[in-house]
Amino acid sequence: MYWNREIETLDREALEQLQLKRLNCTLDRAAGAPFYRDRLGGNARHLRALAELSSLPFTTKAELRDAFPYGFLAAPLESIVRLHSSSGTTGNPTVIYHTREDIEAWQDLVARCMYMTGMRRNDVFQNMMGYGLFTGGLGFHYGAEKLGAMTIPIGPGTSKRQIWFLREFGTTVMHILPSYALRLSTHVREQGLDPRADFKLRMAYIGAEPHTEETRQKIQETWGITAFNSYGLSEMCGPGVAFECPQQNGMHIWEDQFLVEIVDPDTGAPLSDGECGELVLTSITRMGTPLLRYRTRDLTRILPGPCACGRTHRRIDRIRGRSDDMMIINGVNIFPLQIEQTLMRISGIGTNYLIEIHEDNYMDKLHVSVELAPDAFQGTLGQVEGLHGRVCAAIREETGVTPVVKLLEAGSLPAAEGKAVRVVDLRKQSGRGC
Ligand code: AMP
Ligand code: ZN
Repeated sequence: MYWNREIETLDREALEQLQLKRLNCTLDRAAGAPFYRDRLGGNARHLRALAELSSLPFTTKAELRDAFPYGFLAAPLESIVRLHSSSGTTGNPTVIYHTREDIEAWQDLVARCMYMTGMRRNDVFQNMMGYGLFTGGLGFHYGAEKLGAMTIPIGPGTSKRQIWFLREFGTTVMHILPSYALRLSTHVREQGLDPRADFKLRMAYIGAEPHTEETRQKIQETWGITAFNSYGLSEMCGPGVAFECPQQNGMHIWEDQFLVEIVDPDTGAPLSDGECGELVLTSITRMGTPLLRYRTRDLTRILPGPCACGRTHRRIDRIRGRSDDMMIINGVNIFPLQIEQTLMRISGIGTNYLIEIHEDNYMDKLHVSVELAPDAFQGTLGQVEGLHGRVCAAIREETGVTPVVKLLEAGSLPAAEGKAVRVVDLRKQSGRGC
């Protein structure tokens, strides 16, 4: 039974008391991590009220990365049972450590989200997200098992296989990237099948990348299902941080586990409910890597007012984009700098390049045009082809995404008048800003 009525409907006063208690315990635990010990001192001062939260310093992704590998580890290493790692700029990845309690709390959280949307033990759950260091696959997997549903850990397999499993096992709930949900439906039709009539699907969990309400509607109509927005990030645990309820009007962010703030992305000043800004999260139950006032870089707002479902945890609006330059390409996080550093290591490549993100049949395509070094075009065709192959392979290796690469003669890309424009996002629903 994963409907935790008491916690999910706590009145604000009781919820805030619980949050303050958990926050102060987290401060004690966080002081065990070298980064926070330096920052807060060995004995972190307890807060008397939640309003004092803003007296604590922010934590950024860059700090997480710079403290690699153990600067944010707050529990003894022998109590850690797993790590997850998020892609980042070239160099150190960000690493989040999980104790057994963290893993169990995370499973419960994902099971809670699933139960909220109406998923039950007799559902068949097909998990199409990547397993491994990315939290999307394993996070949902253990949540679904905890709930008791038969779970198909197919991961991001080919569309033919996905469709075969959907049909053969009568999958009723799928976890899928929103862009892939639409693309998969085109493959279904190519096989002469009707996505609405030839499957037992009734729900989809869609997340990991920004998408619009129109995309959701299209997924729902195409498949004849209900699609729920799922938000999470590795730094907090992974999926399960915020999730839509049957009202489908904003995502409840689980305030018994995370403190929510919305701040001005430029000044860090707190914003009121309803105002759009950067989401800042504090994890208040995590043992391995608790994070205080973590700057997510995700832009959203808190939806004012209560939800008709009766849950008291506040809701965030769908993510509108990011305040940094991180690109999300078919669910994979990539920083432009990763591509630049990869290119600059290849001899024969010049210094001017342009990244374009296109959308083709609901799939993101990473295009990289790069100028060759002035003398490189004097090589034979075979040499240029070899270089092309090396550039593709190096970018794929660094980012996990297969690019479309174009090699150009030196001087052929437009020279920027001011700051170089390195990234052009041509997707319909790329959003930056609120
Ligand atoms: P990762 O830590 O690799 O799982 O990436 C987390 C990031 O993915 C978040 O900070 C968001 O930028 C993005 N993300 C996750 N879920 C959603 C969602 N439902 N809508 C928009 N962006 C999302
Ligand atoms: Zn609700």
